[in-house]
Amino acid sequence: GGKYYSMMVRSVLPGGLLSSAQLMAQLDLCDEVGNGTLRFTTRQAIQVHGILKTDLRKYINRVVEIGQTTLAACGDVCRNVMCSPLPVQSAVYNDMQDLAARLKEHFKPRTGAYYELWVTDIETGEKTLAAGGEGTKTSGIKDADPVEPIYGKTYLPRKFKLGVALPEDNNADIYSQDIGFLAITDGVGAERRIVGYNLIAGGGFGRTPSAAKTFAAVGQPFCYCPVGEEVSAAEAIMKVQRDFGDRTDRKTARLKYLVANWGLEKFKAKVEEYAGRDLAAPKEVPIVGHDDAMGWREQGDGRWFYGLTIENGRVKDEGSFRLKAALREICGTLAPPLRVTGHQNLIFCDIEPGARSLLESILKSHGVPLTEDFSLARRWSMACPALPTCGLAVTESERAMPGIMDQIDAEITKLGLDEEVFTTRMTGCPNGCARPYNSDIGLVGRAKEKYTMFLGGSVLGHRLNWIYKDMVPADEVAAELGKVFTHFKANRSEGESLGDFCDRTGKDALLTACGE
Ligand code: SF4
Repeated sequence: GGKYYSMMVRSVLPGGLLSSAQLMAQLDLCDEVGNGTLRFTTRQAIQVHGILKTDLRKYINRVVEIGQTTLAACGDVCRNVMCSPLPVQSAVYNDMQDLAARLKEHFKPRTGAYYELWVTDIETGEKTLAAGGEGTKTSGIKDADPVEPIYGKTYLPRKFKLGVALPEDNNADIYSQDIGFLAITDGVGAERRIVGYNLIAGGGFGRTPSAAKTFAAVGQPFCYCPVGEEVSAAEAIMKVQRDFGDRTDRKTARLKYLVANWGLEKFKAKVEEYAGRDLAAPKEVPIVGHDDAMGWREQGDGRWFYGLTIENGRVKDEGSFRLKAALREICGTLAPPLRVTGHQNLIFCDIEPGARSLLESILKSHGVPLTEDFSLARRWSMACPALPTCGLAVTESERAMPGIMDQIDAEITKLGLDEEVFTTRMTGCPNGCARPYNSDIGLVGRAKEKYTMFLGGSVLGHRLNWIYKDMVPADEVAAELGKVFTHFKANRSEGESLGDFCDRTGKDALLTACGE
């Protein structure tokens, strides 16, 4: 008798990095205590659903044992730090990954309570981890300073998200983050180096449909920091949010509301006061690309990486599609280092030229489609989990998306637009977990099987899209888009992307042209 409570557990992977051994352990855990599937998230983390409350300690113990953590994967703290995951051997990419790791470490909660609560032997209650690793925080906890050096006594008013990107590679979608770090470089080719970062502040997509005062925002270019000064500037921003962010209403507690209420000027003056120095104006460097790192590419050291498209990040064995088994075999034989991308896909790194065909054949023999088998539209799409695992969902997302993409693909093929790159992002509620508010096409759950359709964003992620139509039934989404695609094909200018075209045309003209 009694009730059973089941949970979702998320593990952080700064920059999306994990080893084959770590993925194997996570796959074991999803089978042993989860619902048998694992999900690569839209923020380069891993989550497993369906874990019974009684299994939580077992899960978390094991995660810490394999050198990962669930600490600060959720909560009103700095979450997983995103970073462009391209595994090329270059000073620029190495430095970006290094910054992601340093940010995660710098903003890690110092509490020992996590280890006290979770990282103990299940039978005896004894602490299981020896001093030296993550588990050192269990030692001497009674003497530990109870006040967090950055978060203080009460942590932040709300979650806080960071991401690191390059102008030509915004895989980390930095305009959607509380603080985005845009690498500013000097030199070309092998001589290219990062000289500093533009900090982009106040992005965030969460909205509450019942609260008109809530809104999605893209971040605003805030300041420029030479290398070495970016972490302390971010700390000053975070502390201003800690002290002045709205603690009376969680709906308006994100940094974006503080920036909007104060205006950038007042906000910057306060951040400078906290930083103890003036902050330079941001460099005028635009975002110009988004590298999704899919398919085969040489890394720069004679070895190769392969970016595998995984529909909505879901790792499972279902019928003839046996991705979970394929990943076990790859991790057990080739054991490549791995990276999760900002579009829920997985990169196998350091593949010797002679092992390329083996990797492909393992995938194929398990019924796993290769990236090359996906349409571009599907490869660039993503959906949040929504039903049945998310308590906030008002309608389907992940389960409905494949069918809707079939219909969208049909419209695209009919018009010969298969070579177009555009992002389609779907969520089961306005909370926006799959970042539907800056994509070329956004489909946001509004009511049962009805969606708000957004257009006019961009693969680059630097501007918000706008509502094209509301309450569109799921089975009419593709037909509505088909009309837009037709108009786009006939009237686009040379090389213009779908999002740019919609944005230039504007809502009213587009509605008129599409027969309203
Ligand atoms: Fe749940 Fe809404 Fe986030 Fe989707 S967007 S995972 S439905 S909270």
